[in-house]
Amino acid sequence: MLQVKNLSKVYEGKIPYRALTDISFTVDTGEFVCIMGPSGSGKTTLLNIIATIDEPTTGEVLIKGENPHKLNRNKLAKFRRRELGFVFQDFNLLHTLTVEENIVLPLTLDSKRVKEMKEKAHAIAETLGIKEIMNKRTYEISGGQAQRTAVARAMIHQPKLVLADEPTGNLDSKASKDVMEMLSLMNEQEETTMMLVTHDAQAASYSDRVIFIRDGKLYSEIHKGDNRQIFFQKIIDTLSLMGGNDDDLSSVRV
Ligand code: ADP
Ligand code: MG
Repeated sequence: MLQVKNLSKVYEGKIPYRALTDISFTVDTGEFVCIMGPSGSGKTTLLNIIATIDEPTTGEVLIKGENPHKLNRNKLAKFRRRELGFVFQDFNLLHTLTVEENIVLPLTLDSKRVKEMKEKAHAIAETLGIKEIMNKRTYEISGGQAQRTAVARAMIHQPKLVLADEPTGNLDSKASKDVMEMLSLMNEQEETTMMLVTHDAQAASYSDRVIFIRDGKLYSEIHKGDNRQIFFQKIIDTLSLMGGNDDDLSSVRV
């Protein structure tokens, strides 16, 4: 599904900064993968390159065998719209629109019929428990509801690959659990491949595999196996072994 090959990223500037060094891994169709690592380790950079929001300096990304960075602008726009779903930490909702309008946004870009869009939006809102707020504006809803709206928007066009950067970063533990349960439900039901950046070990324990990066390099990876509690403990252990700043450590102590 996804192949990341020898990816490196140097941010040019007065003092060039090497954010990623020779990152390689593959993700299978339907797999749910988390990326973890201390603040500044390059997680967002990696996700943005996979999402084609940013360009690699060297190396390549293949999604279903195709390198999206090589597509022309029109084809890339279509590719992103059809194949990818994004969830950003700050939700990235449009405040002049209602919840429903935000959710159907990816479909309006592909000129789907209004009736079909509404039906899909309502089905997905039902699953996510946000049916009652469909006509509200985004400034009238809570952080948890906004995040569910962002998840609904990322999923409505049934993308093959969902990329999420700290999707539970601004949520309390209850809302965070709800969002993770939704993501894993979609992963199971639709076989959507998920790749999620998080510093929350509890959230990461919903995935099949955690890839750890430190200082822009692959550090290690661990697989869930059949026990989520043991997986969770292994994630905590790896994080504390890796070290990080106080902020990261405090979020590890659940
Ligand atoms: P993370 O998401 O793991 O916290 P990032 O990928 O955001 O890390 O950043 C990795 C490193 O690259 C950081 O040291 C950051 O300061 C640097 N960086 C990120 N974006 C830019 C940019 N646009 N220009 C220069 N340096 C950047
Ligand atoms: Mg980040």
